[in-house]
Amino acid sequence: MSETKHNWTKDEILEIYNTPLMELLYQAASIHREHHDPNTVQVSTLLSIKTGGCPEDCGYCPQAARYHTNVEGNDLMTVQQVKAQALRAKSSGSSRVCMGAAWRNVKDGAEFDQVLEMVRTINKLEMEVCCTLGMITENQAHRLAEAGLYAYNHNLDSSEEYYKKVISTRGYQDRLDTIGNVRKTNVTVCSGGIIGMGENIEDRAGMLVALSTLNPQPESVPINALVAVEGTPLEEQKPISIWEMIRMVATARIVMPETQVRLSAGRTEMSREGQAMCFFAGANSIFAGDKLLTTPNPDVSEDMELFKMLGLNPQKPFIKKMQPESVEASASQYQALGEKPKWTRPEHKIERNEEAKQKGKVLK
Ligand code: SF4
Repeated sequence: MSETKHNWTKDEILEIYNTPLMELLYQAASIHREHHDPNTVQVSTLLSIKTGGCPEDCGYCPQAARYHTNVEGNDLMTVQQVKAQALRAKSSGSSRVCMGAAWRNVKDGAEFDQVLEMVRTINKLEMEVCCTLGMITENQAHRLAEAGLYAYNHNLDSSEEYYKKVISTRGYQDRLDTIGNVRKTNVTVCSGGIIGMGENIEDRAGMLVALSTLNPQPESVPINALVAVEGTPLEEQKPISIWEMIRMVATARIVMPETQVRLSAGRTEMSREGQAMCFFAGANSIFAGDKLLTTPNPDVSEDMELFKMLGLNPQKPFIKKMQPESVEASASQYQALGEKPKWTRPEHKIERNEEAKQKGKVLK
């Protein structure tokens, strides 16, 4: 069995990415078969539990308050609403629910307590629970772990160099620090990125270096294709080709053999044949539901038809790791500390983000 290597260099990863396609597919598919069942793909559901109004300036994101997009903001969902959606997701084949809140970072208080209750509730439904809530402290990571969180998502988005051209309100090290805080618990790490934001191939390789040299490597790596949304700074980016997505998935599979590689945003632009090639290249998860947070996604019935056509089975929960125990709030060892950590605010200027912000002000 191929071993997991933690010292990949950018040159090595570039060489893999640029391998002739048939050879690249063969290598990636061979490694995939050593570590995973090639006929099983996890279906996950992404729920936006608090939409819009985010103070950050991520250039790709329609939820940033400063841009003018068609996204309607929503307050935090109730536990009952989340439970109803999770049950619906489970009945249509999802084994994992990822809850996303448009926050810069988690703040201790009633809203975080409500999220912890959502985690307990979904854990009891015997589904893997993942959260993506922005930056978190070590104590907050422990509180999520105690509630029964299975995974925490915190994407690196791109290479460290290109990150500075997309986001100015926080630094790459903040991302790594949050991942480090999650690693101090038994919660698994989900971290990936977006291609098609105008980055070059070196940046894609740089992101894979940053992810694959983490030890342990993330258990889950979502690979997104940018969905360019009107009103955001990246609204004019041209869609990437399917070949770029296949190469990215195959390279991620080779450098992170045990990781669950997730085919994420941008699937509506992909043909069925293209998606099938991504599965062959090592992608073994998709997000189901007609929306991915706020951007379009294929309908569940279309996905199930695709699974049937390809002979794929939805993956059961807790195949890779046991279901975490969930401790009730009253028996919890970790309490809110009311911390106010100093996450960085590099605040360098990104021209296109500034322009989108000014345009947004005029239109609002
Ligand atoms: S990606 Fe997340 S942090 Fe960035 S603006 Fe959107 S919701 Fe906020």
